[in-house]
Amino acid sequence: MPQPRKQAPVVIAIDGTSASGKSTNSRLVAQALGFIHVDTGAMYRTLAWYCLRHQIDVRNARAIAAACRRWKATLQCADGQVYLAVDGYYPATEIRSLEVSAVVSHVAAVPKVREWMKKKQRECLQFGNLVMEGRDIGTNVFPETDFKYYLDAKLEERARRRAADGLQENLAQRDQRDSQRAVAPLMIALGAKVINNSQMTPEQTSGTILADIRQRLAAAARAPDR
Ligand code: C5P
Repeated sequence: MPQPRKQAPVVIAIDGTSASGKSTNSRLVAQALGFIHVDTGAMYRTLAWYCLRHQIDVRNARAIAAACRRWKATLQCADGQVYLAVDGYYPATEIRSLEVSAVVSHVAAVPKVREWMKKKQRECLQFGNLVMEGRDIGTNVFPETDFKYYLDAKLEERARRRAADGLQENLAQRDQRDSQRAVAPLMIALGAKVINNSQMTPEQTSGTILADIRQRLAAAARAPDR
């Protein structure tokens, strides 16, 4: 007897520049849809924190790759969020420090690190439907998804948002490093819907994304089997 086909999990990819509202909007979208939220920036930050803690030179790609090979980091899913726990500990507060922000893009540029992260990020499918935010989700981690969004905002507005969180950071420098690295640089995925939210509230940004997702899901449900 033919078995009903199991639906593959849906992945919503939300990429964009630093402080463009990816986290706030990804959370809102995930909550509205009942999907699991994955902050891949937090995963790279966790490795950067680990390197700082173990006095690993963040300019030494080989040393970082070696650390990534040997650290004991596992995927955990709790309260609708996925994170990396290192020896059972998730450094939620530590990874938001200016020290980590200043070095994370060096760590994220190491090819072996990106390979390791991509594998872990794809393993998140085990948790179900996902809203995954980052820099290369639509281009590299889940290029096959039909749901790709790219967020951006004027640099002054992004700096203002970071300052409102009490952080003075050189966002332009981090964006430049992320856009210019050799492997999986920050770029707009083919077919991504680009949203410049300089003048938009999170409700408006997430509302735009949700309306688009719902329209596409409804169209896919109407379409004959592909
Ligand atoms: O999103 P967030 O600002 O926390 O990301 C921190 C850093 O992690 C980025 O500046 C980038 O260097 C790296 N990153 C990445 N690819 C991703 C997510 C984050 O290279 N998918």
